[in-house]
Amino acid sequence: MADKKLIYMDNAATTAPDPRVVEAMLPYFTTAYGNPSSGYSLGYAAKNAINTARETAAELLGARPEEIYFTGSGTESDNIALESLRLSGKRQLVVSAVEHPAVLKKAEQLEQEGFRVTVIPPDREGFISPEALERYLTPDTGMVSVMLANNEIGTLQPIKLLSEVAHKYGCLFHTDAVQVFGQLPISVDELGVDYLSASAHKLYGPKGVGLLYARYGVPLVGVIRGGGQEYGVRPGTENTAAIAGFGKAIELAALEMRQRAAHEHKLAVHMTRRLLKELKGVCLNGPEVIGTEVNACFDRNRLTELKRLPGNLNFCFEGIRGTSLVIRLDMEKICVSTGAACTAGHDRVSQVLTAIGLSEAEANSSIRITLGKDNTPAEADYVVELIRQTVEELRILNN
Ligand code: PLP
Repeated sequence: MADKKLIYMDNAATTAPDPRVVEAMLPYFTTAYGNPSSGYSLGYAAKNAINTARETAAELLGARPEEIYFTGSGTESDNIALESLRLSGKRQLVVSAVEHPAVLKKAEQLEQEGFRVTVIPPDREGFISPEALERYLTPDTGMVSVMLANNEIGTLQPIKLLSEVAHKYGCLFHTDAVQVFGQLPISVDELGVDYLSASAHKLYGPKGVGLLYARYGVPLVGVIRGGGQEYGVRPGTENTAAIAGFGKAIELAALEMRQRAAHEHKLAVHMTRRLLKELKGVCLNGPEVIGTEVNACFDRNRLTELKRLPGNLNFCFEGIRGTSLVIRLDMEKICVSTGAACTAGHDRVSQVLTAIGLSEAEANSSIRITLGKDNTPAEADYVVELIRQTVEELRILNN
């Protein structure tokens, strides 16, 4: 029997590098290997590649190239943004309870050093409302950090309204846009953010490279010390190949974004309809999937109407363990997850699902399916069918 083909539906964890991205990276391993800081042609070629990627990133965000800093990951970008609180002259940091550990753990570190950290609980769908945020702001709030979209349940926060509230109180505003950059249109001016984090491996680019947008003139301090690369904010010889690959991934995302989002949304709606109809004891965690108009969000002003990332699904299946389902699907070469990749291997209950009000049992009965540009309708149907069968079998075994 021929080997089964792998079906990858964990695109929020990482994406498969696009072959066009890999091709764009190759010269920086073979012929154009110069140090970007070197003062001769081989170095200039590497520097040019970095600057081209910077311009491409800036264009997609509606920013200036000088406002883009390449980093080693989305995690590092989040850390640098929060580190900059130290220069604000204020002592309070406000974050949402559904942030990625890159924000929550950095906040914990700042708290241990004497800063006051306030964590805002979300509502049932994972949203933080402007009214809720305002209740926590004080004259001593230096920074607010709320993610653009959640990595587990896809909730898209009303960042424009949240940043307006934060600015009314004179605080800086950071958003972790790692799950959104390259998936949906983002304008830093429309969102009104001071800092924004992104990561290449979520948009079919390489792992180990991120970017931080920092609005011109805002306080900014890196977490490591060294040479003058990336304006001194992220010292260390640049990973030229990865940055060039990131640039290519951004260029492709800009061209294909609308089509990718519409495709993923269509598959997500189809899978949701089938699972809710064909299985009992299933519920969708997070905002609605069915009934949203993804195409409309591409008219710039209507992005705010979209409540959930197009390819994100998260279901609770009563009476089974999510980890058992993930393992059984893996045996069929299907990759889905129980939650964030950084905690999935640790069998810890999802803090995001419990923060939106699920019980521990419900959170442990949930799985995340995140669709990507290369998933097909046939794969979607096959995965639904296998989930249906496996959940029924697991329920019988558990009884
Ligand atoms: N923030 C969010 C919302 C994420 O989903 C991730 C990755 O899963 C990160 C930050 C960290 O990005 P990186 O893997 O590049 O460190």
